[in-house]
Amino acid sequence: MSCIFCDILAGRAPASFVYQDEQVAAFMDIHQPPGLGHLLVVPRRHAAHLADLDEETGGRLFVVGMRLAAALRVAVDCPGVNFYLADGTAAGQEVSHVHLHLLARFRSDGFGLRIGPGYFRAPRAALDRAAASIRRALDDQPEG
Ligand code: AMP
Ligand code: ZN
Repeated sequence: MSCIFCDILAGRAPASFVYQDEQVAAFMDIHQPPGLGHLLVVPRRHAAHLADLDEETGGRLFVVGMRLAAALRVAVDCPGVNFYLADGTAAGQEVSHVHLHLLARFRSDGFGLRIGPGYFRAPRAALDRAAASIRRALDDQPEG
């Protein structure tokens, strides 16, 4: 199975790295907004989805993302940063190797996630039922 991010991490494909440690690496996304502030943070070991990733590495992705967000604010002089992670093709994941997007944001830069037409302001009873069902699923999870 070929994976472009594994190729990048192994040096078989080019990338512009901003950070590397034993667990994760970060490099410039090939698709950039005008300010060139779009980064990806990825685990070194291949994991297609979050369910394939150990919690320690998942935590490291976020910690490194936080540090890079602070660096982005200085380097690109952006007043905001979005984190974005698509887990599963239904969620828009195109590369099957977990990756956390960091996007430098500027006022009125036109970037946005659109919510679907079926979204509605849910009544509390429905929210409580949904929360209970998620709590049950959480309790049934094996220890990470
Ligand atoms: P996603 O749609 O969340 O799976 O995002 C995949 C991201 O990988 C996209 O933003 C692509 O621009 C980016 N990408 C794909 N190939 C490369 C590459 N060779 N180097 C850097 N970024 C890439
Ligand atoms: Zn991979």
